[in-house]
Amino acid sequence: MKAAVMRSGASQLQIEDLKQENPRPGEVLIRTGAAGLCASDIHIIHGTAQLPLPCVLGHEGAGTVEAIGEGVRNVKPGDRCVLSFVSNCGHCRMCRSGHPHLCDVNALSGAKQFDGTTRLVDQSGGEVFQMSKLGVFSEYQVVPAQACYPMPDDVPMEVAALIGCSVTTGVGSVINAPKVKPGMTVVVIGAGGVGINAIQGARLMNASQIIAVDIAEHKLEFATRFGATDIIDSTTTSPEEAILELTNGGADLALDTFGSIETTQQAIGSLRKNGVAIVVGLAALGDKANIDLVDIVRMQKTLTGAYYGLASPHETFRTMIDLYLKGDLLIDEIIERRYNLEEINEGFEALERGENGRGVIVFD
Ligand SMILES: [Zn+2]
Ligand SMILES: [Zn+2]
Repeated sequence: MKAAVMRSGASQLQIEDLKQENPRPGEVLIRTGAAGLCASDIHIIHGTAQLPLPCVLGHEGAGTVEAIGEGVRNVKPGDRCVLSFVSNCGHCRMCRSGHPHLCDVNALSGAKQFDGTTRLVDQSGGEVFQMSKLGVFSEYQVVPAQACYPMPDDVPMEVAALIGCSVTTGVGSVINAPKVKPGMTVVVIGAGGVGINAIQGARLMNASQIIAVDIAEHKLEFATRFGATDIIDSTTTSPEEAILELTNGGADLALDTFGSIETTQQAIGSLRKNGVAIVVGLAALGDKANIDLVDIVRMQKTLTGAYYGLASPHETFRTMIDLYLKGDLLIDEIIERRYNLEEINEGFEALERGENGRGVIVFD
């Protein structure tokens, strides 16, 4: 089967023919339907985040169950599934305390399956890892049963793929955030795949003002289709000052969906007293923001991170699917480009150029 593999030192993914083992107990073989191209994959390609190599990248995907291993009961062959890029073990402290997306065992086993072994072998017999236990840039994948969330037939594969990362991360980081209430003012820094969905989350929570900040004018215009009420081009305007003026004193909630020192500082600087800043986008490894400690105390600001929409991914998937089917959550409208697997590097180049919306790999 074909897969896009990241090899050490390579700046591009290469399409290789890999051997796929059968699912072991507790695992599922998925035939991939669609896979989204996400900035987190680019971090791996550029080396600003690390994975063991060689590795099949891709963590935003959906597919159909082809076969199940022994003991799998949550899905059966033929089920169409959203795939979670965190599989939960169910018995670590994080899983037991209601935070399965922060599962310790999942983090420790990383790009291997839960038993610490791999399911992919390359042409020279070497083992190949799977990003997030998935590696959705491949025709088939063996994944933990816990990664699979069965969905109704009327959710298209491309839509389901986006629910697997950018939609759940963006919308979830707002609707599951602390101190959220109707009428709040929200700032979303970064109008990429996650940012547009954070804007949708704010719209779904009836925010009175949704201010999008980006460095690309065309992305800001695109963001207004998803609910942004005001836009700020941070290359020409200082976002903090403009936001303090637009909101008459600062926003209740500010999200850094890009993930960098500068944008996180902008998020904190845009808050009113008692406001909440959330870092959603992944910065480069080692990045450390400079925070005004007196400001954070006197203004009683909260700074927090949000991983995978702050809650159980399966529970957020359920909400996203319901809202999509009701027509309240726009997902088809985010997909601007479609590629086949061989065109994957072209797709990442478009993402890096900052083109609007999401690119998706579609499998036959
Ligand atoms: Zn992602
Ligand atoms: Zn766990």
